[in-house]
Amino acid sequence: MSFFTKIKGVRVPHKKNTAEAEPKVLPAVSSVFLPMNMHIGAPSVPCVAAGDAVLVGQKVAEAGGFVSSPVHSPVSGTVTAVHDKLYATGEKVGVIEIASDGRNTPSPDIKPPVIESTEDFIAAVRNSGAVGLGGAGFPTAVKLTVRPEQTVDYIIINAAECEPYITSDTRTIIESAEDIFFGLSLLKKYINPGELIIGIEANKKTAADYLLRQSELHTNKELGVKIAILPSVYPQGGEKVLIYNTTHRIVPEGKLPLDVGCIVLNVTTLAVIAKYVKTGVPLTHKVVTVDGTAVKSPANVLAPIGAKISDLLELCGADPDAAAKILYGGPMMGTAVPSADVPVRKNTNAVLAFTEKEAVLPEEQPCIRCGRCVASCPLKLQTVEIHNAYLNNKPEFIEQYKANICMECGCCSYVCPAKRQLTQYMKLAKAALREYQDKQAAAAEKAKLLEEAANGE
Ligand code: SF4
Ligand code: SF4
Repeated sequence: MSFFTKIKGVRVPHKKNTAEAEPKVLPAVSSVFLPMNMHIGAPSVPCVAAGDAVLVGQKVAEAGGFVSSPVHSPVSGTVTAVHDKLYATGEKVGVIEIASDGRNTPSPDIKPPVIESTEDFIAAVRNSGAVGLGGAGFPTAVKLTVRPEQTVDYIIINAAECEPYITSDTRTIIESAEDIFFGLSLLKKYINPGELIIGIEANKKTAADYLLRQSELHTNKELGVKIAILPSVYPQGGEKVLIYNTTHRIVPEGKLPLDVGCIVLNVTTLAVIAKYVKTGVPLTHKVVTVDGTAVKSPANVLAPIGAKISDLLELCGADPDAAAKILYGGPMMGTAVPSADVPVRKNTNAVLAFTEKEAVLPEEQPCIRCGRCVASCPLKLQTVEIHNAYLNNKPEFIEQYKANICMECGCCSYVCPAKRQLTQYMKLAKAALREYQDKQAAAAEKAKLLEEAANGE
């Protein structure tokens, strides 16, 4: 065990109301609705058609490319539709809809994978459907694919769970500490990092004790897993923040953790991989924290991926139609959804519902140049300058001030006494910068073609 130094960021109220209770199980659902974009990268490609019978754990969509992930059915029943659907977030997304037969018959294809090499292990990770379950949704098999010229000095297991309210990782640790250490042994055997570290915040004492107890077992003597108890400062679980606070390595702009010898995996993702390797059961269900001021009985809920979040809210005593705001994820980084008629996604770790009092945004006041936004930014970004550059339509300054590296953590908005919606402005600035850079690239390409034409090439 070790204790690392302070990070920039903010001290947010923890509100971990659901940390000490076992998850509730969502009663059987009549249907599920599986989007094909539950991860970063190419959408999954359906391999079933309307009318097909499916079983629990059966693959219903293949990975659509290298950076992609397959999807498995969480219920047995009949595929009722495979089509593009206008999603509540405004995007048109491919979905598979399945009517459950209520029997939850497992697929006979479910069996532990045979793993004899690193390639087999990566294939197993891919086949498990694992993606970054802390919210990022990055396909885990891609993260673990190490090129020959790269070395892995550290694999860091992200158990920080630093956002207010969310406790789904905490419960996974408590319920699956043994699986997590089995997962660590797989990483040691097939990826062979120099060191395995679990980063967890000090405010999760019960979960940390479970990890410490596991680490004292005989198996850990060979693994040498280090458990880093970190200060409870948001955003401790941000990838770059966690890397710095556990290894003192800095991921440079435009680089990936592997470029500095690090891989970061979410702790629940690791538990999913371990379960798949042990049993062959892929990612079909998810523990989701349901909380917020509009929720009467906050709880973690074990739900099938694809279940409507309205079912989870109702189980916890919330009226989805009466809630003034519903979030996918935590209050710092979560996204508001216009209705509860959306599914639990692979990377949904929380569904929060708030009453009018918390949902209304305070009116923005003029900036008083206090500098708190800059002081709280974990990446030391000049938030005010980027904000002004965006408002004055100066994308070249947005670029100069490196808005592109903003991780949208929300610290700047949280501390601003003028209640300026800085994170929202950072998102808009990043979008404006992308448009500017695309135009620059297109102009450069056109100039190159014209020059080649003039030279008769
Ligand atoms: S500028 Fe971006 S990274 Fe910095 S505090 Fe604001 S949201 Fe977080
Ligand atoms: S925290 Fe708010 S008021 Fe203070 S400098 Fe930043 S934008 Fe201005």
